[in-house]
Amino acid sequence: METLLIACDFDGTITERDTLHLIVGAYGTRGLWEEIQPRLNAGEVSLEQAMQEEFDSVRATPEQVLDLVLREAGLRHGFTEFVRWAREHDHRLIVFSSGFRTVIEAALEHWGIHGLQVVSHEARFSLEGCRLVWSDRGDVCEECGRRCKRHDLRSQSRGERLVYIGDGISDRCGARMADVIFARSMLADDLEREGIPYTRFEDFDGIRERLDSPSTLAA
Ligand SMILES: [Mg+2]
Ligand SMILES: [Zn+2]
Repeated sequence: METLLIACDFDGTITERDTLHLIVGAYGTRGLWEEIQPRLNAGEVSLEQAMQEEFDSVRATPEQVLDLVLREAGLRHGFTEFVRWAREHDHRLIVFSSGFRTVIEAALEHWGIHGLQVVSHEARFSLEGCRLVWSDRGDVCEECGRRCKRHDLRSQSRGERLVYIGDGISDRCGARMADVIFARSMLADDLEREGIPYTRFEDFDGIRERLDSPSTLAA
């Protein structure tokens, strides 16, 4: 049977709630993003600079952040079984996130999911403010003009067919590279608007059933 590269977003996809929103909501300055956004939209600051400005205001220890995330993020139904299923079928399931490695790995461990490959950025939390550490995403993407997930997807691909699972704006470029897309929330709306075929998902049982069905990947 064919093996796949299954690229899966973390925030709002594996989790029910976006951990970045949770962290800023609990420990950052409310409304700061609205203040930064006009400068971002006008191109005066990059997305990375805008996010750093927002996270400068986040004053919390790593323990406080992890406590919050483990308490509030919520694991989407069926993910544990989905990881097991992917391993049984030799599919390469990789988490591609625009969030932070420490948070992602702690959450996965907490939910009993071990050894999953994670490609993401990193954050150093402290009471003096949070410093973001950006992973190297190569040159800016020709599609979106940002350093998006496309670079990471290309470097991880071994030429298998690509399945993309995501929910947000940071998934737009990655999803467009995929042979099969599962989407919810803003990503689903975006694909809908552009007439790009995708399957809407609510949990991972549904995704597993679709991928198990021979018609989904019929060439
Ligand atoms: Mg997301
Ligand atoms: Zn892009």
